[in-house]
Formats: sequence, C-alpha cells, structure tokens
Amino acid sequence: MAEKRDYYEVLGVSKNATEAEIKSAFRKKAKEFHPDLNKDNPNAEEKFKEAQEAYSVLSDESKRKMYDQYGHAGVSGGASGFSGFSGFDAGGFDFGDIFDSIFGGESAFSGFSGFSSGASSRTRKSRGSDVLMQMNLDFEEAIFGTEKKFDLDVVEECEECHGKGGFDVEECHTCHGSGTITTQQQTILGSFLSKSTCPDCGGTGKIYKRKCRECNGKGRVKRNKKITISIPAGITTGDRLRVSGKGNPGSNGGPNGDLYLEFIVSEHEFFLRDQDDIYLEVPLTITEAILGCKKVIPTLYGNVKLNIDAGTNSGDKERIRGKGVDNKYHKHKGDMYVVFKVYTPKRLSRDQKSLIEKLAKTSLETEEITTFTKFVDKNN
Ligand SMILES: [Zn+2]
Ligand SMILES: [Zn+2]
Repeated sequence: MAEKRDYYEVLGVSKNATEAEIKSAFRKKAKEFHPDLNKDNPNAEEKFKEAQEAYSVLSDESKRKMYDQYGHAGVSGGASGFSGFSGFDAGGFDFGDIFDSIFGGESAFSGFSGFSSGASSRTRKSRGSDVLMQMNLDFEEAIFGTEKKFDLDVVEECEECHGKGGFDVEECHTCHGSGTITTQQQTILGSFLSKSTCPDCGGTGKIYKRKCRECNGKGRVKRNKKITISIPAGITTGDRLRVSGKGNPGSNGGPNGDLYLEFIVSEHEFFLRDQDDIYLEVPLTITEAILGCKKVIPTLYGNVKLNIDAGTNSGDKERIRGKGVDNKYHKHKGDMYVVFKVYTPKRLSRDQKSLIEKLAKTSLETEEITTFTKFVDKNN
C-alpha cells in the first residue's frame, strides 16, 4: 500500500493555513492538474484526485480537526490503513469506521460531555462520546493475536431506577411543570422579566418523590468492569479496535459511546516488521560469504535451513515465501526476507593472516572492481 501524502503537503499550504489560503491553493492545484487540461500528463488525474481529497478534508472544519489529531486514519474509512476494519467481528467487537463514530461532541477525551447548559440539551437524548485508550502489545502478541483482559470504569445507567434518578414522578413544585422559571429583576431602568431553566428539575418539569439511593439521584453509576477482548493476528502500531458501548455515557438515557483501543506494538530484538513482511539480518563470516554455506535461520514459525550461495555480499536478500505475518485482520500473508551482512574480522591470528596474504596475491577482482579501476585511471 502506498503511503498517503500529507494533505497540507498535497495542497502546499502550512498547517495553520486559513480557510481562504486552502481554497486558493486548491484552485491552483485543480487548474494545474485538471485532467481535461492535462491530456499528456498521465499523472494529472491522480494528482487532481489527490488534491480534491485533501481539499474535501481541509475545507471542512470538523474533518480538518480530525485529520490534525489522527492523520489519515481519522478521516478516511477507505484508503488508509483502516480499510480492513469494516466487517471484521472479533467476538462481539467490531472494527468501526472511525470517521462515522468517533466524537459525538468535541470533548471526547476530556471527561464526560453532555451534562451542561440549557433546557433543550438537558432533555434531549444523546449518545455519549467515544474514548480512546492506548494498549501495548508484544511483538509476538500482535503477530499471532491474543486475548487481553483489563479493568475499565464504565459509567452506565443505574439499574435500580433505570436512569431516572428517582421514583414516583410528580410535577415540579418550583416551576409547576413548565421547566422554566420567570424572575423579576428591579433595576433603575424599570423591572425586567427574565426566564431561565428551573434549577430544581433541570428543565424537565418533573421531580421524583424518592431519590434513588443507588445512584444518588444521578441516574448513572460508575462500575469497574472486567473486559476481555480478543485481538486478531496481525495488528500493527496505530491500528484501532472498537469495543462498542464502553465509552462515555450518553445523556438523558442516550447510549454510551464506544471505546477505541489503539495499539502500540513493541519491537523485536532481531526480527524487523514492515507491514506483513519480516526482515532478519543474518551475519556471515567472510569465508561463509565467499564459499557459500548452509545456515539455520530463525523464522516466526520456528527454524528453517537455508542454502546460502557462494559469493554472497552484504545486503543480498533472500525471500522465504509465506513466513511473514499471517494477518487475519487485513487478510493478507507476508513473506520473510533474510538480509545478509558479511562481517570482516578486525583481528586475525598469524596463521589466518598468512592464509589471507596468500589469497591476496591471487586475482580477486570482480566486474565492479574492474569498472571502478578503469574510472580511476580515466579520471587521472
Ligand atoms: Zn438510580
Ligand atoms: Zn422545575
């Protein structure tokens, strides 16, 4: 998968470009790469689309915010690394389209939202905001998948009062059911009537005769839940998993938001992972490199024997098919690459030195060395 270019870079604007700057930069790019005007340039259409995509995100305030915070992953359900998320179901948890579901409100990560302000928001049902939590995975856990258990404080509707906060509903005495109160203010200019939300019923017009003791009238309780999730094989750093309904609570009986787990995968001492491919550096002695040899090579799936050709150089690569990551999550299987590195000894015994000196008297020139020598002579 090709790396996606940064949207700001695509439009050639700075991270704090104004709306107008973004618009004008897009116009310029659009003119420059419009496919109708660029029939000879085979890349024009792609560039045009790239600019269009960048503009569609950066020109939209909320999408731009998401992009600034999460990069491509935050704004794209399709083209980025999240493409494999949809449709995957890991034991009741599904991978979500981040763009659709993250952030009911602006303050997704900062405590609870939706408890504030006026009468209308107090009575409207709304979904809670999503929560992002980071989780560390070992190299092997990420590759082979694992099960993780953790404790999580989840605020949920109180079961005792079903989220109402009390029992035996009756009309609010303070506002007589209207939800608002009118107060008269005397000023030097005369008297004013001002309306405000009833402080006793919070604008609902109703109060409860008996307050629920379980939740102390809040309608919600915080519970420490043991959560078990199964993590599919193939996760890489930055991948996210959605645990539905374990985010912040909704208001007025609205559903909880979701919990997103974002993974940080630790590195391995020897194996290097690039997406689903695994690289391993294999050190060779100079004689192994010159004469060729048989070597036992560790893979993710146990050791294998490899024939190494005579005349192997540092940097030469050998592919071992199918020994990369078997990614259940992006449904792709990678390969393994063995990269050889020849280590020349810094110290030799007297015998070794005399053997090498004997060897040095023979011709060891390769084509590359001959070509280089010719270049040196010509350059003189
Ligand atoms: Zn309760
Ligand atoms: Zn009231």
